Amino acid sequence: MRLSNKILSIKPPPLRSFADKAANTPRCVRLDLGEPDFNTPRHIKRNANNALKQNFTHYTSTYGVRELRDAVAEKESKKVAGLSRDNIIITTGGMGALFCASAAILDFGQEVIIENPSWAPYPYMVEIAGGKPVLSKFFEDDKLQTENILEKINDKTRALIVNTPQNPTGRVWSRRDIKTVAEIAEDHDLFIICDEVYEEIVYGRKHVSFAEYDHDLSNTMLINSFSKTYAMTGWRVGYVVADEDYIKAIMKVNRVTTSCPSSVTQMGALAALMGSQRSVKKMVSQYKKRRNYITNELKKMGLNMTTPDGAFYVFPDVSEYDNDSMKFSNNLIENAKVSCIPGVGFGSEGEGHIRFSYATSLNEIEKGMNRLERFLPNYPNPISI
Ligand code: PLP
Repeated sequence: MRLSNKILSIKPPPLRSFADKAANTPRCVRLDLGEPDFNTPRHIKRNANNALKQNFTHYTSTYGVRELRDAVAEKESKKVAGLSRDNIIITTGGMGALFCASAAILDFGQEVIIENPSWAPYPYMVEIAGGKPVLSKFFEDDKLQTENILEKINDKTRALIVNTPQNPTGRVWSRRDIKTVAEIAEDHDLFIICDEVYEEIVYGRKHVSFAEYDHDLSNTMLINSFSKTYAMTGWRVGYVVADEDYIKAIMKVNRVTTSCPSSVTQMGALAALMGSQRSVKKMVSQYKKRRNYITNELKKMGLNMTTPDGAFYVFPDVSEYDNDSMKFSNNLIENAKVSCIPGVGFGSEGEGHIRFSYATSLNEIEKGMNRLERFLPNYPNPISI
C-alpha cells in the first residue's frame, strides 16, 4: 500500500505540535493558539438552539442558507456596491473558503504567490488543490517590496494570497500597498485571494479591502469567517465573496467536499450578522488593552518588533537570543512554561521570531511576560516558577 506522494511530502505545520506540547506541560501559560478566549455571544447560541428545536437539521443549499447569504451580501456591500447573494457562498470556516477558492482556480502545477512569513496552512492548501506555492517576502522593515513579488511572477502564476490584518505579524495593509498589489495582479491577470478573517480586529486603523480596488470583482475573491470576529472557531462557518461565475465554480468544490456547512451553525452565523455588534466591540477593546500591554512589555525587554495594528498576535524578533526559533520555543516552554509558535513555522522569513497570541486573559499574559522577563537574561537556562 502506498499513500499519495503529495500527502507524504506535506509536513504538518508546527502549530499543533506546540499546542499539544503546551497542553501536556503542567502550569503552562498558553500564548500559542489563535483561539479567542471569549465565549460565543448568547444571542448567536440562542438562534442556533432555536434552529435545533425547529428541526432545521437537514442539508442546506451547497451555496448556504439563503438568508445568511443575503446578510453577508449586505455586510460586504460596504466594500463593493451592488452585491447580491449570487456573489456569496457559505463554507466550512475560512479554511473551507480558502481551499474551495484555491481548488476552483488552479490547474495542476500552477503557481500561487504567498507572503513569507504568513499563516502556515496556505502553502499546504495550495498543494493539495494541485498548485505550487511560491513564497515571497512582501515586506522589509514594513515597506512593501514590489520587486520581490514581481520577480516571482511567470507564465504559470495564477494567483496571490494576501492577508490583512495579517497572521502572524498583525500588520494591517495600507491603502497604498493594497492599490500597488491590486494593480500588479490586474496587470498580470492574476487572481487575488484576500483573507480578511481578522478584518474587525483592528486598533485605531481602518481595514481596507482589496475589493475597493476591484469594484466588479473581476479578479478578487474575499475570504471571511465568523471564527475570530464572533468567537465562533468551533462552529466552522466562513464564506467567499466573488463574481457570480467564480462562486458557481467554488460551489462545485464545496459540493463534493462537504455538501454544505452545518445547517445549525449557519443559523448562529445569521444571528451574528443580524444582531447587535456590541459584543464584537467589547472583545476588540479587550484585545486592544492586551495588545498595548504585551507590546510594551516586549519592547521593555528590548525585543525588536512592529506594533501590530490588527489580529491578536505579536511577532517579536528573538534572534539576539537564538536564531533557531524552534529551539527557542522549545526552551521557552520547557524551562519557563510559556508557549508560543516558532516563527519559522510561518515561512523561512519568520526564522528568528516567535509568535505570541494575546487571545487570552490579561492575567495570563502578565504571568507569561513575567516569566519571559526572568527567562531571557538566563537563556537558555531554566528559571524557577
Ligand atoms: N486565515 C487566517 C489568517 C487564520 O489565522 C485562520 C485561523 O487561524 C483562518 C484563516 C481560518 O479560520 P477558520 O477558523 O474560519 O477556518
